Amino acid sequence: MDYTKLYINGEWIESNSKEFIEVENPANREIIGKVPRANKADVDYAVRSAREAFETWQYTDLSTRISLVERLIEELYKRADELAAMIVKELGRGMDFALNMHTLPFIKDGENYVRIVKEYEFEKDMGDHLLRMEPVGVVAALTPWNYPLGQVTKKVIPALLTGNTIILKPSQNTPLVTYILADAIDKLGFPKGVFNLVTGTGAEVGNMLVEHEDVDMVTFTGSTKTGREVAQRTMKTIKRLTLELGGKSPSVILKGADLELALKKTLDTVYNNTGQTCSALTRLLVPEDEKEKIEEMVIRITKEYPFGDPALSPKNIGPVVSERQFLKVKSYIEKGIEEGARLIYGEVPQDYEKGYYIKPVVFSDVKNDMTIAREEIFGPVLCIIPYKDKEEAIRIANDTEYGLSSAVFGPEDEAREVANRIKAGNVIVNKGLFTRNAPFGGFKQSGLGREGGIFGVEEFLEPKAIFVYNK
Ligand code: NAD
Repeated sequence: MDYTKLYINGEWIESNSKEFIEVENPANREIIGKVPRANKADVDYAVRSAREAFETWQYTDLSTRISLVERLIEELYKRADELAAMIVKELGRGMDFALNMHTLPFIKDGENYVRIVKEYEFEKDMGDHLLRMEPVGVVAALTPWNYPLGQVTKKVIPALLTGNTIILKPSQNTPLVTYILADAIDKLGFPKGVFNLVTGTGAEVGNMLVEHEDVDMVTFTGSTKTGREVAQRTMKTIKRLTLELGGKSPSVILKGADLELALKKTLDTVYNNTGQTCSALTRLLVPEDEKEKIEEMVIRITKEYPFGDPALSPKNIGPVVSERQFLKVKSYIEKGIEEGARLIYGEVPQDYEKGYYIKPVVFSDVKNDMTIAREEIFGPVLCIIPYKDKEEAIRIANDTEYGLSSAVFGPEDEAREVANRIKAGNVIVNKGLFTRNAPFGGFKQSGLGREGGIFGVEEFLEPKAIFVYNK
């Protein structure tokens, strides 16, 4: 496949800039491709194409849109191994993770959106008015690198199903997998301009899209810092805005919890994507008098995670995504030591000549006002924070600028009571599992709006009231 072009108005075209951005395999630092560094002329063309396409796409029969998206999903299933193989290369995940964590669940998610839209009432009689849910218009989607396919399909599929047109700007770290998606869309014969892929940097293409007068909606997933900037720029022209941002999520262990279950579920979120998961439960709140026992268990379970080169085993977790991320995580580990947290497992990573590998790091006796407990590290770093009683645990859990995810483990009734008091978009209680019909998104500075289920569909719809005179 040719990665040196942009996909605009139903065609693969060269960028006006003639400049490129190299894409690196973080597991061995090889350059695996280059994508265009799009410029203003490219962005303007993409927005124009999406605008023209919207004029007709919004009025196509729902059944036409559903049938195209169903064929797209079928195609993505057929190409699942190819998609996952690309995620192995550009994100550095082992094949098992790339397929079962990054690819198949998100295609399934797409099927769920189709099911929801099939049942959704786009127009209903509310008694005193008619309510029509209409597409917002031209959508700019800005996505991060940590789930290179999933964060994209969560936006593209519901946006297209609901009659919007879209311009996707994927992360410059992991754009290649989106070329496979664009290739599938191209081959299936979606009307031209309905989906456009424009690669480039956030500071350039991202900003141009966000500020573009002819873009109606921005759906952004990324860091809170960038999200804040995106929000300010978006508001210059009062666009519809969805922000899916960072987290520093607590996992609260109550007395009487099933510790094996609690620690395995918590550590899975912290380690399985090398800590690069927005909803990772990186603050582990433990009863003070059970701290030592829990520390020993954490160390034992941590040793079971297969960190290492994804080329050597499909089960290997792999490195962090880039030099920038490596240096960022390293500096947080150093900061934790400097601030007096007790390093009970792991070490400061040093060398990244052969890839950006960081082994798990566990700190204990972390105070909730330390930098490592407040800021999103986005690496395999766990903070164990002891607490005295349940009230203190709840206070610490909520003492954060974020509110994305959380978990509570303990006697069921007590855990439910604590769950109700945590200010976060989702709470896992004991054996509870996240489901794709549930809303996903954050309280506080973790974002605005939700993805997933019916909430993820309605993000792309504008309510319109129609008043008709009935005697
Ligand atoms: P990022 O904020 O650096 O970038 C996200 C996207 O925005 C990229 O496409 C980037 O090119 C673009 N961008 C960067 N600067 C921009 C600007 N000034 N204007 C417009 N666009 C700009 O985030 P990242 O490092 O790619 O991803 C990691 C972050 O994403 C973490 O903070 C993580 O918590 C968050 N995240 C959140 C969710 C969620 O659902 N809440 C999911 C995944 C990741």
